[in-house]
Amino acid sequence: MKQYRVAVLGATGMVGQRFIELLSDHPWFTVAAVAASEHSAGKPYAEATKERRFTNISIPAHIQEMVVQDVSRDVKQIAASVDFAFCALDMPKEEIRKLEEMYARCECPVISNNSAHRWTPDVPMIIPEINFDHSTLIDYQRIRLQTSRGFIAVKSNCSLQSYVPALHPLRKYSPERVLVCTCQAISGAGKTFATWPEMNDNCIPFIDGEEEKSEREPMKLWGTAKHGVVIPAAYPQITAQCIRIPCSDGHMAACFVKFKDDSKPSAEIILNEWKNYKSPIHDYKLPSAPEKFLHYFDEPDRPKTSQDRMLEHGMGIAIGRLRPDRQYDYKFVSLSHNTIRGAAGGAILLAELLCRQGYI
Ligand code: NAP
Repeated sequence: MKQYRVAVLGATGMVGQRFIELLSDHPWFTVAAVAASEHSAGKPYAEATKERRFTNISIPAHIQEMVVQDVSRDVKQIAASVDFAFCALDMPKEEIRKLEEMYARCECPVISNNSAHRWTPDVPMIIPEINFDHSTLIDYQRIRLQTSRGFIAVKSNCSLQSYVPALHPLRKYSPERVLVCTCQAISGAGKTFATWPEMNDNCIPFIDGEEEKSEREPMKLWGTAKHGVVIPAAYPQITAQCIRIPCSDGHMAACFVKFKDDSKPSAEIILNEWKNYKSPIHDYKLPSAPEKFLHYFDEPDRPKTSQDRMLEHGMGIAIGRLRPDRQYDYKFVSLSHNTIRGAAGGAILLAELLCRQGYI
């Protein structure tokens, strides 16, 4: 397999550090540039991150010595030195939109963890196991950007990565309405208990913008890509409530689903759909793809966050507690690792897909 040189934009943050860790022994990708704000630029990576090192993330020695570049000032230099870039920046949306487009126009594809371009019509938002075919938007985007290589592709928000995969194989039974309550770890805000002491022994019932993303983004993922735009799916209609809980990593969702009356599946059918689900990208043999995408636990007290979030190296989806519901048809819980499947790992899997499909 061809080897690719990659840049990590926003390499010093929590998601950036997770990118570096996951890329450290990647069979196709080698980190050739790390970039962050002007405050980190010019410093060795170890020094730039010394006050924000996450003890649960390990960084290889050669990256510690790498000099951090300025993500805004050194665009041309970075773009010319790599085959593509991952973006894990946290900046105002308009600035990110412009910056990502600058990299793309410099013929450097950008695989972004950021929400800035999720609703740009010709930018594909992809969970590879769900809508790998949306990458065809890139052909149209390149015409707009007047590039031959450069483009932007994004992954979706971390909150929905536990319940959307679980609902996906059930879409053929016409789910009409979904109610979901997400319990989200503090790393989702780039924080630890040390940097966010208020989260000890506490839940906070507000995550800015998260409920809208949780309700809206699934419709683009399940939509149809046609002539350079995605026609969003109309069903199921989702209503969401998102709560920050005192866990370090791992987003859990409590999900209720109502099907169209004449197409409601039995619980046994649902379990079979989950247990026998074959990912449509299985045969692509992507290095970060989980061997099995969906795992159903029969034990009544699983999945548990600390025990099950690293399922399939943090890329698997853990589901449990399927049972009938008196108001909806069924309820269940599901769990995913927010900084791996929901952030860096999901973006790396997307890049692998785009390499296989020939877009990178
Ligand atoms: P973070 O820890 O605050 O890191 C932010 C990164 O952006 C750092 O590298 C920082 O560089 C850089 N940055 C900030 N302001 C900048 C500026 N004005 N110019 C250039 N660089 C700047 O944030 P995070 O938690 O890693 O999240 C990064 C992005 O991923 C966010 O958009 C977040 O919403 C999204 N996300 C996070 C998660 C999660 O689970 N944490 C999941 C999905 C998506 P310096 O170190 O030099 O300041």
